[in-house]
Amino acid sequence: MNTEMINNSSGNGGNLKIAVQKKGRLYDGSMSLLKECGIDVSNGNNQLRVQAANFPLEVFFLRDDDIPEYVQDAVVDIGFVGENVIAEKNKEISSIEKLGFGKCRLSIAIPKNGSLRSIDDLNSKKIATSYPLILSKFLNEKKIAATIQEISGSVEIAPRIGLADAICDLVSSGSTLFSNELTELETVLRSEAVLISNKNLSVEKQNLLNKLLFRIRAVKKAKNNKYVLLNAPNDKLEAICKLLPGMKSPTILPLAEKGWSSVHSVISENDFWNVIENLKTNGAQGILIIPIEKMIV
Ligand code: ATP
Ligand code: ZN
Repeated sequence: MNTEMINNSSGNGGNLKIAVQKKGRLYDGSMSLLKECGIDVSNGNNQLRVQAANFPLEVFFLRDDDIPEYVQDAVVDIGFVGENVIAEKNKEISSIEKLGFGKCRLSIAIPKNGSLRSIDDLNSKKIATSYPLILSKFLNEKKIAATIQEISGSVEIAPRIGLADAICDLVSSGSTLFSNELTELETVLRSEAVLISNKNLSVEKQNLLNKLLFRIRAVKKAKNNKYVLLNAPNDKLEAICKLLPGMKSPTILPLAEKGWSSVHSVISENDFWNVIENLKTNGAQGILIIPIEKMIV
């Protein structure tokens, strides 16, 4: 598939064009995010290009490696892609928003029972990777003179077949490294999926992007927060409300039982368990935690 094929497709000028990975680790996260933003995209027939039913958005399904270039060249306006790919491709694009999925790290790994111990031991050694640009910048910074062997896939087998002494590859759980008797030595880059955009969007397209971004942020915020309901004796309300700032301040409603109130608020996922423990210690009872679908502040 090439640029021409996309340009020749009868695109509607009023549409925002977004590139999404055709299949792979970013596909599900990308499609769920669009769905949570209330945008219906059906890709039943494995098509290259799908028009969203209820938003002026045209979705192009591409290899993730091609997305930064297509965004730079304005073949598409925006895209969902990993920070690792953005750093390696080094194109003129704007990174707009982290998306919270596709989290992984690019790491240097070495054979578990080999002679290498630290990154300085990589001097005059060979490292296999699909990320030569990121790795060479890293080695320069650390003043390590290693040879980079670029390979496009199955990097993890390179040490075993004698192609390289170490590898630099994406890791999430570490299970691939483990089953190839490799161990992580150093993290080179942390990555997650981000929304990227062309640098010269028309005003019309920028308005559509802002609309989409507004929805993405509401979805992200909702995921990071929970709705909490609890009962509290009135003499403990002050202490409990201090623990629950809420979006403005907590809602307090009297219970039918005298001397008790129901408190409603929103708490962040980050310090969730701490807050719950403190609420209990301060006399809260019947605590209910409810997921939030969208959150507009
Ligand atoms: P394509 O055919 O689109 O080029 P690919 O084989 O390059 O696919 P995937 O393995 O599907 O790509 O990974 C896509 C992206 O998912 C990576 O670039 C990275 O941002 C992210 N990712 C998250 N976790 C991992 C992981 N454990 N290994 C590889 N990629 C990961
Ligand atoms: Zn790829």
